[in-house]
Amino acid sequence: MGRLRRFWGWGYEHEGLSASEQRSLAERVQPFIDASFVAREPPTPSEISLPAPRLDVPDALAAWCSRDDFARAGHTYGKSFRDVVRSLDRTWEHPPDVVASPPDEAGVAAVLEWASDAGAIVIPYGGGSSVVGGVEAPRDDDRPVVSCDLEHLNKVLEVDRVSRAALIQAGTLGPDLEAQLRPFDLTLRHFPQSFEVSSLGGWIATRAGGHFASLHTHIDDFVESVRAVTPAGQWESRRLPGSGAGPAPDRLMLGSEGILGVITQAWMRLQDRPTFRASAVGRFATFGEAAHAAKALVQAGLWPSNCRVLEAAEAWMTGAGDGSEHLLLAGFESADHPVEVPLARATELVRDHGGTCAPKGGSSRPDEGDGKDASDGAADRWRSAFLRAPYFRDEIVRLGLINETFETAITWDRFDGFVDDVRRATEEALQSVGAWPALVTCRLTHVYPDGAAPYFTIVAPGHPTGRLEQWRVVKTATMEAVNRGGGTATHHHAVGRDHRPGYDCERPDLFAAQLRAAKRVVDPSFLLNPGVLIDP
Ligand SMILES: Cc1cc2nc3c(=O)[nH]c(=O)nc-3n(C[C@H](O)[C@H](O)[C@H](O)COP(=O)(O)OP(=O)(O)OC[C@H]3O[C@@H](n4cnc5c(N)ncnc54)[C@H](O)[C@@H]3O)c2cc1C
Repeated sequence: MGRLRRFWGWGYEHEGLSASEQRSLAERVQPFIDASFVAREPPTPSEISLPAPRLDVPDALAAWCSRDDFARAGHTYGKSFRDVVRSLDRTWEHPPDVVASPPDEAGVAAVLEWASDAGAIVIPYGGGSSVVGGVEAPRDDDRPVVSCDLEHLNKVLEVDRVSRAALIQAGTLGPDLEAQLRPFDLTLRHFPQSFEVSSLGGWIATRAGGHFASLHTHIDDFVESVRAVTPAGQWESRRLPGSGAGPAPDRLMLGSEGILGVITQAWMRLQDRPTFRASAVGRFATFGEAAHAAKALVQAGLWPSNCRVLEAAEAWMTGAGDGSEHLLLAGFESADHPVEVPLARATELVRDHGGTCAPKGGSSRPDEGDGKDASDGAADRWRSAFLRAPYFRDEIVRLGLINETFETAITWDRFDGFVDDVRRATEEALQSVGAWPALVTCRLTHVYPDGAAPYFTIVAPGHPTGRLEQWRVVKTATMEAVNRGGGTATHHHAVGRDHRPGYDCERPDLFAAQLRAAKRVVDPSFLLNPGVLIDP
């Protein structure tokens, strides 16, 4: 029997925190806990109470459609802080009326046809790991809602070893995808933190960022062609290694967040599994020095596969450091050649920028298909914390705290002042809603020759009954600060419903009109995910 997904939070049942993880968490978050808050127990299925579904399912689709409360509650939200709070509060607002899990692409087309006839909305659902309200039904639309879960489209259909590419169904979750590629000694090497419970189609639809931190950062780089089913029919782009033939069709689906069609499968560019690895940890007195050392690494064309900059407080929070130094974690890997040479140059650059550095050196060992590098110490502890973080987040939320993350990207010329301004605005907003004293930390998740992606984490005391209102005020303030400083509304978490205000400021008005026009062609009734990216 398969593992049971948690319907109220991240991941799987029975994979919560171990006793030692609980202790380590308590030590770190104790200063922020409001003693009057009673830790919330997770809801049980028997506590789910939803309004009756407003849609009947036609006989032809009945075998794979559910009107069951458990399935509907599990598909009501994604996995953001706000989603977990609402589930812990036992409030499932605007649940889907039906959860459809089509067995194949024809089934997806049948769902769209049925929903269109029934005047319903369809929300494409991959892993459901959205943290921006991307799989949630709109509040201001009275139409019945069908959540279209692609869980059965979960196979690698074909592997082209010569070109190093594979045709993969959109509902395939990260671990299944890598497991099916392993016999061919190939890997997609796309590892978002949500890898365990997010899907290829979701990655493409949200332009996901993997945790290889330079060069191939987003899923965009790996898409060779896509196929999508829309209310107006189905289309597929041509498989090409590159093309200058006008605007690329794939680009329209990348980041389309379910509004322009349901992605059913894609040809993806693959890589040989790396076996040579080497890594080093740079230690710095200031975050700025560490960030500028990371800039030097990528501007030198070294392309580290891991290049994270952790602020001292974040290093302490994740157990990667003791909080006295800012860390630069740099890792290199290759399937073809030893990587000691770029590592040695990276070490020099760290020292040139005021850091100290103890390289672990190179190694050669079989890849475990999970993006691990061969480093130990700080890098290992950080990686383990990174993968377990979602389970920690849910526990922190249960304890009554606010635990929010947001991320952006900015060019280097504006970097220093930008990070300071965003942090200040975040802290002021937290103070204004009484969520204080709080911890606001920053790390760089991705670095580019022309800029970086700062990622902020908030741990703050929450009001026993008003956490969502506090979150709303802080979220608005952070989005405004990011926009004021010229950063993007999101580097990889997507737009969904939560980032709409920031995204609306960022994109040119004429582009928004072009997007609406494209939507009208494939989905004139605004059947698919209305309110995400654009309004009906
Ligand atoms: C703990 C945690 C860590 C995360 N870490 C990262 C990270 O490191 N990098 C990152 O990029 N993101 C991260 N995310 C955000 C999220 O995992 C990504 O946005 C991911 O790409 C969503 O994939 P999914 O399959 O879960 O999509 P879902 O959440 O199911 O859907 C996301 C959006 O895509 C649409 N969609 C889904 N499948 C399809 C399809 N087949 N066709 C058309 N539209 C579709 C949905 O309608 C929705 O708008 C994280 C989330 C969590 C909870």
